[in-house]
Amino acid sequence: MLVENIYQTIGNTPLLKLDIEAPNNAKIYAKLEMFNPGGSVKDRLGVNLIENGLKSGKIKNGTTIIEPTAGNTGIGVALAAQQYHLPVKLVVPEKFSQEKQILMKALGAEIIHTPSEDGIVGAIAKAKELAAETDNSYVPLQFENPANPEAYYKTLGPEIIKDLPNQKIDAFVAGSGSGGTFVGVTQALQDKYPDMKAITVEPEGSILNGGKEHSHRTEGIGVEFVPPFFKSITVDSVKTISDDDAFSYVRWLADNEGVFAGSSSGAALAAALQVAENLPENSTIVTIFPDSSERYLSKNIYGDEEK
Ligand code: PMP
Repeated sequence: MLVENIYQTIGNTPLLKLDIEAPNNAKIYAKLEMFNPGGSVKDRLGVNLIENGLKSGKIKNGTTIIEPTAGNTGIGVALAAQQYHLPVKLVVPEKFSQEKQILMKALGAEIIHTPSEDGIVGAIAKAKELAAETDNSYVPLQFENPANPEAYYKTLGPEIIKDLPNQKIDAFVAGSGSGGTFVGVTQALQDKYPDMKAITVEPEGSILNGGKEHSHRTEGIGVEFVPPFFKSITVDSVKTISDDDAFSYVRWLADNEGVFAGSSSGAALAAALQVAENLPENSTIVTIFPDSSERYLSKNIYGDEEK
């Protein structure tokens, strides 16, 4: 495949049929989003945030883009902004993986750290503060910007429908950080399959199932507030997955499927298997694997490092 720029390689990722024994003979398909050039599902968002900002006039020549992020959105935004030579400042809570921060910097972004204990809420506040001090700046704000679910409604959802011609999808299972992926894809799939169940996934330590907020090792999912995008859909249920379960499926995926998947992918697979327990025989479940384990090697994702 000949391409003229790296942006042409965003999207059209493979959909893998997993070779796993699932309850009730469910078939589980995973969209492998680590195949995007920036290595995650968030490349789709980066492009949409920048293009929408340009179209609406919020981004002009030389506008500084400022965004709070756990990492992958930062990489997606920095990648998309590079094409328009826009300066990028990313506000990242310290706890997130070094690999993601190194990649953001390599793309030309500046990183501003906020304390881990202030979470993403602290990063959002800091981003707004920086924007107030910076002339000609713009905060796309993935947590509220409709361009976030829209990115997935326009690209990821339709790709899944195309990947599975003539096959009804019974359930869609995806993790939520901002909720953009889950909501946008759910809307696209339910346009075609209105009865499809939509199940989101959070790590233990997130609040959607009424749990108490605490730190977790699973990165990219888990929220301190209910994502505003959830108002646009019916969430059939929320599966809360422990770090241990998420990481054991990360190891299973490498060992059995040859897939290097990040911890939110492991959590998604653990949740998909739970969802299968309550579906009729031979149901079809689609899930998303948002990124690769390679960006978590420094966090001992395979658990092989000497203690
Ligand atoms: N998994 C990973 C690894 C991520 O980086 C993100 C984005 N923070 C998600 C899942 C969740 O995506 P969304 O923000 O669209 O809910």
